[in-house]
Amino acid sequence: MKDKLYVFSAQLNAVKVIHAVILVIGMPVIIALALAYDLILPIHPAALAVLVVFYMLTFWGITVGYHRLISHKAFQVTGWAEVMLGILGSMAMQGPVFYWVANHRRHHRYADKENDPHSPVVTEGGHLLGRLKGFFYSHLVWIFSHKVSNPMLFCKDLVKNPRLRFVSSTYKLWAFLGLVIPPVIDYAITRDSRSAFSTFMYFGPIRIFFSYHITSCINSVCHLVGYRNYSSADNSRNVYSLSLVSLGESLHNNHHRMPASAKFSHRWFEVDLGYAFIRAMELLGIARNVNVLTSEKA
Ligand SMILES: [Zn+2]
Ligand SMILES: [Zn+2]
Repeated sequence: MKDKLYVFSAQLNAVKVIHAVILVIGMPVIIALALAYDLILPIHPAALAVLVVFYMLTFWGITVGYHRLISHKAFQVTGWAEVMLGILGSMAMQGPVFYWVANHRRHHRYADKENDPHSPVVTEGGHLLGRLKGFFYSHLVWIFSHKVSNPMLFCKDLVKNPRLRFVSSTYKLWAFLGLVIPPVIDYAITRDSRSAFSTFMYFGPIRIFFSYHITSCINSVCHLVGYRNYSSADNSRNVYSLSLVSLGESLHNNHHRMPASAKFSHRWFEVDLGYAFIRAMELLGIARNVNVLTSEKA
């Protein structure tokens, strides 16, 4: 029998909605409460450094780990590095690795067509209101309302991997530790429990909120506006202004054209810190067989 595109149960649907509520509504509510109760203390530079470093590590976990390594197999790493990248991606709180990868592979298979889980294009009518509706659907609404992609169809090759099964099944632990580790590091540096508490209440939610919206911009903005190096059947675009904070993810038209490439930057001015991380791993002997496809225009 043909595998279904989606899996559905009342319990799975409830978990999906609760997770979306925590991610999209819970994080800004915690930030607002921290602001209302004046939890922002004189900000210690160490706390800011912890925030930036943790943002980058966990976003590398998404773009390098979840996306380029696990979804597209654009390079290979040693087993422990695969686990570490999966854990860092889990700390971004965008869902367990099999859930994320199944949705993403479905996006590539049906990009901007009916079964794409988060296209801004299929709902838009071309006029401004339609485009705005498409933007809100792909940026915020889909995460509450989408049908969960079937991992047995989209991740058949991955569910056999015991390391990835371990990372995916222990997702909640890593998401929790992603909130706890930064204040512990903060306290170890500053010896100030108030600074550590504000890092827990404030910087963790800010990091997760920010990385969620940057990832969502790839689904929404990068399928609506921006420039194209390549014509393609989908509406993917490169958005240069987001390339630094998205660590190269917003070079999305390049990626749709060559999904198996570890390098998303195809022209001299395009910034791709995700690929820089992969190159560093390659130089250290952690990554190998890095697939770099050349473009017609580069
Ligand atoms: Zn896309
Ligand atoms: Zn992709």
